[in-house]
Amino acid sequence: MSDCIFCAIASGEMDTELVAESDHAIAFRDLAAAAPTHVLVIPRKHIASVDEMSQQDPHLATDLLKLCAEVARVERIVESGYRVITNVGDDAGQSVYHVHFHVLGGRRLREMG
Ligand code: AMP
Repeated sequence: MSDCIFCAIASGEMDTELVAESDHAIAFRDLAAAAPTHVLVIPRKHIASVDEMSQQDPHLATDLLKLCAEVARVERIVESGYRVITNVGDDAGQSVYHVHFHVLGGRRLREMG
């Protein structure tokens, strides 16, 4: 998608440093980090959200979750613990419509609400 910022990152156009990558996904740091580790895991191809992914390519979720776990290992937060979240739609606060998982850790995280 030509106007998608995450497609631009996935294509290498933005010269973004990757934390980890796989055949179908990449991981890079969120520019507004909410925790010492705040990494975004996205598919290389454009899919808007978990809702769309569940219908068009549900197996991609496996690859994304495996890369989230790899990020936690690289960041050394497996033992201390971490959170994986994805926002879907306006009420959840999704601001970039290219599906992504936030991997958060490195400090005690507040309860969700
Ligand atoms: P969400 O609000 O769940 O859609 O998350 C989108 C996230 O993308 C936010 O946490 C932003 O800080 C982050 N973000 C937006 N643009 C970029 C960018 N160019 N590089 C890294 N993170 C970004």
